[in-house]
Parts: sequence; C-alpha cells; structure tokens
Amino acid sequence: MLPTTIAGSLPKPAWLAAPERLWAPWQLSGEALEQGKRDAALIVLKEQEVAGIDIVSNGEQFRQHFVHGFLEHIDGVDFAKRQRIGIRDDRYEADCPTVVGPIVRPRPVHADEVRFTRAHTKKKLKFTIPGPMTIVDTLADEYYRDRPRLAFEFARVINEEARDLEALGVDVIQLDEPAFNVYLKEVADWGIEALHRAIEGLRCKTAVHICYGYGIKENIDWKKTLGDEWSQYEKTFPVLAKSRIDQVSVECAGSRVPIPLLALLQGKDIMVGVIDVATNHIESPEEVAATIREAMQHVPVDHIIPCTNCGMVPLSRDVARGKLHALRNGAALVRAELGAA
Ligand code: ZN
Repeated sequence: MLPTTIAGSLPKPAWLAAPERLWAPWQLSGEALEQGKRDAALIVLKEQEVAGIDIVSNGEQFRQHFVHGFLEHIDGVDFAKRQRIGIRDDRYEADCPTVVGPIVRPRPVHADEVRFTRAHTKKKLKFTIPGPMTIVDTLADEYYRDRPRLAFEFARVINEEARDLEALGVDVIQLDEPAFNVYLKEVADWGIEALHRAIEGLRCKTAVHICYGYGIKENIDWKKTLGDEWSQYEKTFPVLAKSRIDQVSVECAGSRVPIPLLALLQGKDIMVGVIDVATNHIESPEEVAATIREAMQHVPVDHIIPCTNCGMVPLSRDVARGKLHALRNGAALVRAELGAA
C-alpha cells in the first residue's frame, strides 16, 4: 500500500555536472564521462534504496536535459542548427535544435543505461521518456511544419524505444508531458492520441507526468499569474481518465491544484506529489502524511503512489536526499495509521 516513487530526476554529483542548475554542462568527457554517469547512477540508486523508495529510477544521471537526452539520438533532428525559440507558450526561451528531415530512431537510445540500471537494483524500476507534445514544443521544425504530425512521428519512435526498454525489465514507462497544461485544447485534439501511439502494445505500467515545471524562476513567475486555483486540470483530467494510461502524476505539495480535482481521474493510479521541488524546505513526515490524507478523501488509497511533484535535478544533493527520506517516512506514517505494514 502507498508505494513511493520519484518523478524522475535527482541532482548529479558536482564532479559529473555543475550542480543546482538545469542544462548543466558535463564536467567530464569521453570515456570518463560515460564511466562517471554509471558511477552517479549507482549513487542515486543506493540513496533511493537507503531512503526506502519503492519504485526507483536512475535519477536521469545519463542525460543533460529531460527532452534533449532522447532527441540527441534521433535522426532528423539537427543539434548544430539551434534556434532560440519561445517554449511552453512563450513562457521562456531556449536554444532548441531543428527538425530538418524524417524522424528515425536508428538504434535504441537508452538501452545501455537501462541494462546497467536494471542490473544494479532489485527494486521496481521506472524510466522516463519525454512525451510527444513536449518534444514538439522543445524543437524548431523546418521539415514537417505540422505539430500533430510531428508529434505522431515522435510517438512512433518513443514506442519503439519503450518496447525495447520494457524487454530489458523496466516496470514503469513514464512519459513526461509538462506541455499538457499549457496547450489544453491540443491535449484533447491530438495529445492523448500521441500518448496512445507511444504506449501501444506495452504490458508494463505506463504513466504520464504532467506538471507546472521545475522550481526555476520562469516557472515560479508563471505560477503567480495562474490565480489562486490552478484549474487547468479541470479540462485535462477528464480526458486523461478516458485514456489508456495507467498512472498520472499531479503536484499536490505546496501547489494550488485543488485537491478535489483528483476525483476527475477516477480509475487511474495517481502519483500524488507530496514533495515540493520548488523549495529547499525539507518536508516533515507529518506534512507529507497530511497531503496523502487529503488525496485519500478523493482517491481510493490503493490508487495512490506518493511521489515528488517534479524532478529534483535543480536541488542540492543534501536537500534532495532529505526529501527522499521525508517521502518514505510520510508514507509510512499513513500506512501505520491504516494498519498496513
Ligand atoms: Zn515535472
């Protein structure tokens, strides 16, 4: 009951990448970099195991950024041709690569890191891949010039990748779709269809992480414009409830998402975000437990998976480690109340 997991990323050691920032440059190169990524993955697996997290990830130690880490290995995307474009509906600008030809996955992208990660933990393993809509939103496109069509092309290569990773023993494939609460109409028009194509034929658990973004300044400023109640999910949740995705993540800690909205996700497992990644405050177990109890008023307890709100890559390692322990301890409090081990 109440198995714990994380949204995906964890901070990297300072010897691997510059700490406490997104898109942090690598501190190593060549074979030393590849070895460094594996060593860092061992550390974050160990830290999750020591903290008692039930469904672990490799903390995204192998990628510089959650979107481009996948795209770097896809043909048709030219990383030398970067363009500064507004992303997430112009909330902020990023130097994005350009689609210049047909989207093709010439070989598995993440197989080596998943094989390595799988070999080094007996826990259930989650792996995160950017979702089609978010990929499309993080690219310039000079080839397809049609966002749904480009999203379906990416859904096809994501599906190829997901099937390979499932065969290597991944228990949960999570698609990261922060774009889902930016483009509400498009989610219903083609976002869910793209997700379905991406998970087609998978037998492992499938999840989607929609969120209001990391705790970076641009996102914090944007959140201030959303008003007292973040009601974007009123539109998105009913559409997701009808989808074939098994799990949906929702940030509930320190957010203004009205918790009763969780009822709109009836039938889904919900990764309830009980850890705020936009603050260095380490939640007490009681604070975590309180968020879980609130979710339990709207979601059956056997559908709740306590989780972090979002990735923890921009945090310090000490803070992230503290939050992992808070996550486990808070879930344990509620389990004890319910008489579950
Ligand atoms: Zn997120």
